[in-house]
Amino acid sequence: MARRAVQRRLTWLRARLLENRPESSRVHRLVFDVPDWPGHLPGQHLVVRLTAEDGYTAMRSYSVASPPETPELHLLVERLEGGEVSPYLVDELTGDDEIELRGPIGGYFVWSSAADRLGTEQARRPVQLVAGGSGVAPFVAMLDHHRQVDGATRVRLLYSARTEDDVLARDVLGPETTVTLTRQSPAGWAGESGRVDADMLRRCTFGPEEDPRIFVCGATAFAEAVSSTLLDLGHPPSSIRIERYGSSEEPP
Ligand SMILES: Cc1cc2nc3c(=O)[nH]c(=O)nc-3n(C[C@H](O)[C@H](O)[C@H](O)COP(=O)(O)OP(=O)(O)OC[C@H]3O[C@@H](n4cnc5c(N)ncnc54)[C@H](O)[C@@H]3O)c2cc1C
Repeated sequence: MARRAVQRRLTWLRARLLENRPESSRVHRLVFDVPDWPGHLPGQHLVVRLTAEDGYTAMRSYSVASPPETPELHLLVERLEGGEVSPYLVDELTGDDEIELRGPIGGYFVWSSAADRLGTEQARRPVQLVAGGSGVAPFVAMLDHHRQVDGATRVRLLYSARTEDDVLARDVLGPETTVTLTRQSPAGWAGESGRVDADMLRRCTFGPEEDPRIFVCGATAFAEAVSSTLLDLGHPPSSIRIERYGSSEEPP
């Protein structure tokens, strides 16, 4: 059984593009039909493999942004100027194009509201999500799943985006979400403004006294800065899970 599960994860699967539409000026939602997809848990990611005609291949990881209940796989891919893979996925993948992917991957950065309902000790702890930019992708899957199973766990999301235009997956975000805009806030903006710091974390997230399970996701600099501030605020290291999207550049 375990062997079959591992083999499935290691097999490259054919994925046919169903839709490629802008979600903001820099991020597109890519929707794939993957007939052999074995299913996933909210928070898991996959690896995309592109192969050029001369055999050259490039692989990158992307979080699954759709819940297990959705038959198609949704990705939220940010176009990084000068990047090798993301501009191709965002700007050039069209029609019935096929790519290869492998997954689901990762059992650590996972929160399944359905599993919480089994009445475990874990279920009594609230869940705090903190996202920077396209790092919101796994949380979109988690929140969508939470809503679909009518989960009872208390959950909050603090989501840092550059501008209002950069806020992704608005259809899934609800009252559990606080958005902070780091570059520009429109007149009358009711959310937070500026980068995530200790004061914002204190006001907008579950405090250590509530013993939350914390998930932080975004570019490496963002994830490092947020998680070290959470430690300063008194959260134990074992309560914080981090997904780094690979850049050490400045946070958004
Ligand atoms: C587990 C995991 C899940 C991921 N999920 C997503 C996702 O859901 N959506 C998504 O858009 N990306 C996601 N990423 C990032 C993705 O794998 C690629 O790194 C990203 O698309 C850039 O690839 P590229 O080939 O375009 O750029 P590259 O050619 O690899 O890099 C170009 C330049 O951009 C820098 N860079 C790389 N990644 C980032 C970043 N995230 N932010 C800022 N600068 C960066 C590099 O340091 C380099 O200087 C995830 C990464 C990991 C490890």
